[in-house]
Amino acid sequence: MSTNEILIVNKIGRADGDYGCYCPHCGKPMFFSEDDLDDIRGSQYQHSRVISLMTGERCDGWLEVSADAGFSRILFDQGEE
Ligand SMILES: [Zn+2]
Repeated sequence: MSTNEILIVNKIGRADGDYGCYCPHCGKPMFFSEDDLDDIRGSQYQHSRVISLMTGERCDGWLEVSADAGFSRILFDQGEE
């Protein structure tokens, strides 16, 4: 289902102390192991380990965080600010 195309992510958020973004392939949140935004920007990640409850398929989509991706405190709005 997912393509091999690497999609660009332009917005990073933070939840529970981890930086993350919404996967441009499946639309679900994914989180990065890095703690430094400068390490995340410009890096490529694969959205692995995510299985859609709807289809049972893994996402496995690749994305690249834009080198000038913005950071939004409310991207993952969990009311914990
Ligand atoms: Zn995904």
